Amino acid sequence: MKCRKCGAAAAIELRRHNAAFCAPDFQEFFRNQVREAIRKYRMFTTEERVLVAVSGGKDSLALWDVLIDEGYTTTGLYLDLGIFDYSVESKAKCEAFAARRSVPLIITAVADEVGAPVPEIKAATRRPACSGCGLSKRYLMNRVALDHGIPVVATGHNLDDEAATLFGSVMHWQTEALPRQSPALASTHPRLVRRVKPLYRLSERETAAFAFMRKIDYIVEECPFAVGATSIAHKQVLDRLEHDSPGAKHNFLFGFLEKARAAFERVDGVELHECARCGQVTTSTVCAFCKLSDQVKRARA
Ligand code: SF4
Ligand code: ZN
Repeated sequence: MKCRKCGAAAAIELRRHNAAFCAPDFQEFFRNQVREAIRKYRMFTTEERVLVAVSGGKDSLALWDVLIDEGYTTTGLYLDLGIFDYSVESKAKCEAFAARRSVPLIITAVADEVGAPVPEIKAATRRPACSGCGLSKRYLMNRVALDHGIPVVATGHNLDDEAATLFGSVMHWQTEALPRQSPALASTHPRLVRRVKPLYRLSERETAAFAFMRKIDYIVEECPFAVGATSIAHKQVLDRLEHDSPGAKHNFLFGFLEKARAAFERVDGVELHECARCGQVTTSTVCAFCKLSDQVKRARA
């Protein structure tokens, strides 16, 4: 197999693009996909600061690596979820990356903000770990960005993540979730920053290959609470489709973004207020994060 660009021996085959690339040309292809995502959705400019939410995994560190090399002014944000060894190791990977690339990294511990780490939140709420964890992550990403005057948060969600989320929403016809499924969410309130996903055009396999070629040291283990998550089952279904029909995930996600998403946008919109307790945006009087931290504190008392 030969590289489509230079004819040298290929290091990776991309069946959905009907192409193969040598390592240098694959990295250029990867960067071009990120550039195209940023351009198409006007995610951010070189004049803006970007908060990159990093988990220590391949996707978020690969994203940070590309944005640094593209000349963006980035700050990393690592949210310490307090999930046993997984959090200890993933935090060390982020710290090592930030030190190697000489870029700033903010570390915020969920336990300091909510009152307990994710495993205790799970016990206190008697809900799946991902429920309190996801809520805390979304809230803290926005609040940290606001506190530091950064207008946009970038996350490492890739094509596989986005296709699996879309599949889950469609399976349950969660029509209120569909318009929020986008590579770029605008700020709809002065206290909400923009959220963008510059890797949405790249598959999990492609980000893994990029991270490997760039010698990025990332955590390979998944969060222990991810085991058995329905999102993983959805990914497996899509993997089978992709195997038999390369490009299936791409067509599913991009077809939705281009042809269907607009149909689910709500015209009435939702009314946003500032939480009476913390000032963050909510649809009720007190936000879900403040309610969660009350519940956790009560359970610990
Ligand atoms: Fe949080 Fe782990 Fe669930 Fe991801 S899988 S949302 S890190 S608890
Ligand atoms: Zn609040």
